Amino acid sequence: MIPSPHIVESKLPNVGTTIFTVMSAMAAEHNAINLSQGYPDFPVSAQLIDLVRHYMMTDHNQYAPMPGVAVLRQQIANKLNDNLEFNFDADREITVTAGATEGLFATITALVQKGDEVIIFDPAYDAYAPAVQLSGGTPVHLELQLPHFTINWGQLEAVISHRTKVIVINNPNNPAGSILSVEDFQRLSDLVVRHDLMLISDEVYEHMVYHPQGHQSILKFPELRARGVAIYSFGKTFHATGWKVGYCVAPEALTKELRRVHQFLTFSVNTPIQMALADFLRDPEHYQSLSALFQKKRDLFLELMKKSRFEPLPCKGTYFQLMKYHAISDLPDTEMASWMTKEHGVASIPTSVFYNRKTDQKILRFCFAKKPETLTQAAEKLCKI
Ligand code: PMP
Ligand code: GLN
Repeated sequence: MIPSPHIVESKLPNVGTTIFTVMSAMAAEHNAINLSQGYPDFPVSAQLIDLVRHYMMTDHNQYAPMPGVAVLRQQIANKLNDNLEFNFDADREITVTAGATEGLFATITALVQKGDEVIIFDPAYDAYAPAVQLSGGTPVHLELQLPHFTINWGQLEAVISHRTKVIVINNPNNPAGSILSVEDFQRLSDLVVRHDLMLISDEVYEHMVYHPQGHQSILKFPELRARGVAIYSFGKTFHATGWKVGYCVAPEALTKELRRVHQFLTFSVNTPIQMALADFLRDPEHYQSLSALFQKKRDLFLELMKKSRFEPLPCKGTYFQLMKYHAISDLPDTEMASWMTKEHGVASIPTSVFYNRKTDQKILRFCFAKKPETLTQAAEKLCKI
C-alpha cells in the first residue's frame, strides 16, 4: 500500500538540491572546468596526510570524546589566544563539529525556538535559512547593498522586532567576497546589546582576507563574544573540504546548549583527523600563509580575465571572485551559468540562488582556489565568450 501523503509531507517544501551539487554534477557531465563549488583542486599537505595515517596506524580509531579530542581543543584555544589576546577555555568554550555545516546546524537548533525571528543578510550561504525553519523560526532576509555589499543599518534597526533572537553574519562573505569593517562591528556591538540579541558568526574564510584591515572576528569584541557563536572550518583552512571537520567557539552557557544538540547530531567527529590537526596546528605558518597564497590566485585570475568581457567586483576575502556579465548577455544568471558550463566548458555559481527573493544582478561566482593551470585554462575559455 502507498503511504498517505501526510506521512511524507516535506518540512522544507521550498528547498531543492543545493546549487553546489547541481553545478558540480553539470560540470562533470559536460566535462567543464569546475569553478562552481568552493573547493581547492590542489593537494592537502603531505605532512598532514602522514599525521592522519600515523594516528590511524597507532590505534586512534575509536569514538572521540563528544566535544572533540582534548589536544585539538587545546590547540584551537592556543591559536585563538595567540591571535586575539584572550583566554579561551578549551573545555568550556570550544566544540569540534563535523564541518562548519554541523556547527551551524547545532547552534541554530540550540538557539532558535518556535516563533523566533533570525536576521540573515543576503546574499547568504544556503545553510542558514533551512536550519532556522526546521527549528520553527522565521528567517528575516535583509539585502546587503551593492557595490560593496554593505549593511544598511537603518533597515536593520527597522526589521528588529520583539521576536528577533539572532543575527547571522558571514565574514568574509560567501559569495560576496566582502568583509565587515571595525566600525561595522562597533555598530553591531551596540545593536545586539540594545536589543538583547545573539549572534552567529560564520568565519570559515578567516584566513583568506586580502584587505589591509585583516580578519576581524566577533571574538575580538567583548559584547559580541559574550553573546555570540563563532564557527570555523578546517576544510577551508587546510584545503581538505572532504574531511568535514570544523569547530564552534562560544561562551560556556551557549556551548552547553549547542553540545546538547551536537551529541545527538553526530556525537563526535572522527578521531585520527582530530589528532592530526592538533599536531599540524602547532605550526602557525600553515594558516598564516593562506592570505598570500590565495591573493596570488585571485590576482592571477583577475589578470587573466582582463581580456574578457566580464567585469570583476571587489574581492576582499574568501576564495570567490564575482563577475558581472552585463556586457555579454541578459540571460538570467542561472541560465547563463548553465549555458556557459554546457557550451563554453566553465562552471560557475549564479548568485541569485543566495537571495531569498532570487535577486538577479547578472553576477556569477567563480572559485579561484585552483592550480594556476586550471585558472589559465578556464580564463582562456571565458575570454572567448
Ligand atoms: N559557511 C560558509 C560560508 C561556507 O562557504 C561553507 C562551505 N565550506 C560552510 C559554511 C561549510 O563548511 P564545512 O565544509 O566545513 O561544513
Ligand atoms: N561552501 C562551498 C561553496 O560555497 C560549498 C559547500 C557545499 O557544497 N555544501 O561553494
